Amino acid sequence: VTPQQLREQLAAIVGPDHVLTAPDELVAYSYDATPLFQAVPDAVVQPGSTAEVAAILRLCHQHRIPVVPRGSGTNLSASTTPIAGGVVLNFARMNRILEIDEENLTCTVEPGVITGEVHRAVEAKGLFYPPDPGSMHISTIGGNIAQGAGGLRGLKYGVTRDYVMGLELVLADGTVIETGGKNVKDVAGYDLTRLMVGSGGTLAVVTKALLKLVPKPAARRVALALFDELDDAARAVSRIIAHKIIPATLEFLDQATLRAVEDFARIGLPTDAGAVLIMEQDGHPAVCAEDVEAMARLCREEGATRVEVAASEAEAQKLLEARRVALSALARRSPTLVLEDATVPRSRLAEMVRFIQEVATRYDLEICTFGHAGDGNLHPTCMADERNKEQMERVHAAFGEIFAEAIRLGGTITGEHGVGVAKAPYLEARIGPEALALMRRIKAAFDPHGILNPGKIFGTEAQAERGSAG
Ligand SMILES: Cc1cc2nc3c(=O)[nH]c(=O)nc-3n(C[C@H](O)[C@H](O)[C@H](O)COP(=O)(O)OP(=O)(O)OC[C@H]3O[C@@H](n4cnc5c(N)ncnc54)[C@H](O)[C@@H]3O)c2cc1C
Repeated sequence: VTPQQLREQLAAIVGPDHVLTAPDELVAYSYDATPLFQAVPDAVVQPGSTAEVAAILRLCHQHRIPVVPRGSGTNLSASTTPIAGGVVLNFARMNRILEIDEENLTCTVEPGVITGEVHRAVEAKGLFYPPDPGSMHISTIGGNIAQGAGGLRGLKYGVTRDYVMGLELVLADGTVIETGGKNVKDVAGYDLTRLMVGSGGTLAVVTKALLKLVPKPAARRVALALFDELDDAARAVSRIIAHKIIPATLEFLDQATLRAVEDFARIGLPTDAGAVLIMEQDGHPAVCAEDVEAMARLCREEGATRVEVAASEAEAQKLLEARRVALSALARRSPTLVLEDATVPRSRLAEMVRFIQEVATRYDLEICTFGHAGDGNLHPTCMADERNKEQMERVHAAFGEIFAEAIRLGGTITGEHGVGVAKAPYLEARIGPEALALMRRIKAAFDPHGILNPGKIFGTEAQAERGSAG
């Protein structure tokens, strides 16, 4: 089909107002939150219903046109960069909460709904949807599901994967299927719902999601502990877990991140601390108080120089915000921010943080580290400038070493951001050639012509030519 025919046929499905083809409009969909990757699509379509999504896929399947599903584009692995061109499926119009079922504790939503809106809607009914990626005020449920997003509450409550009970999917050829459902128990055949979570838009398109809810915790307490030494903070994390406390949140910021956050948000944090832990417990008020007190004591025993317990909900919000704004705060400091999510078993956290610091010194780079300490999920973040080619080579080499070390320590190349294009060169080292070959066969079974988000997870030809250095 010619570009003109494609535009007309898409317009016949969704209406001309919901097809974008002007160059300036397309540029806005040529990149996502990942630096260093950009490619312009041929068209952007905003479907309003499952039937429209199915018709778009039938059309693209027939003409072998790549389709890139897109929520808010906040992913950090270039998962929505249309590297093979084609059609971007933007879910901004499919953003309704369809049902909150208080008897079955479920919520049915369209994929374009913002995560934070689901939180607000269910919490108004005394219910709780725990997955809370740092981007929750802008990211969509469709994007969270496709990326297998984690969040700050992952340690206690689990991640997006643990809260998806069923999906409505449109397959590559336009067929609509439903997976899972409201049954707490259901082992009828393969678990296609779980297979979809984290599949990065490469297997099928999500048009509806059935989410699991839990009762809203009655109360929460938040505390912050400051340490001179990073090792002291890492030991405190181990002590807290060994003490059989599972906090709702246990976040970590190193000194460089702390300074950037304070400079950005003016929260009143002392910037001379070597590391910070932000701790939250929720549940029965007495349990919250007891656990936060115990965590504070353990932090002091491990050398915390100061521990502050938030006296009010407003203060608690402020402390948690310190962690949520970390990425935005760091983003102001350099033209290019390379943020990764190497993850290790939490017992190896201190070793991994030390290794990151050592690599940064060796490659003469500024790498700040923050992350979900309780999950061993670290976000080493490098201040760089992509115009400086020599520096970018050092950045790639440094992260290559960081991923290799994470794997050596029993960890992984990505804890929650997904493989996308950015991590594709490292996937085989993490899962092995046999598992990778099986994944390719699964992809081929779902999408024989490879139209769904091509190049993601399995990498591009250019990456293959460059070899494992990415
Ligand atoms: C400031 C900031 C903080 C962040 N914090 C976290 C964090 O704490 N934890 C975390 O896990 N991530 C975090 N992220 C990364 C990002 O927000 C998540 O990956 C999020 O899930 C992406 O959602 P999105 O709506 O922006 O999806 P997009 O970026 O638009 O898309 C992500 C993937 O989902 C696919 N997709 C989107 N919609 C559909 C659909 N309907 N059907 C099939 N596939 C679909 C896309 O093709 C793509 O592969 C953060 C990002 C930023 C910028």
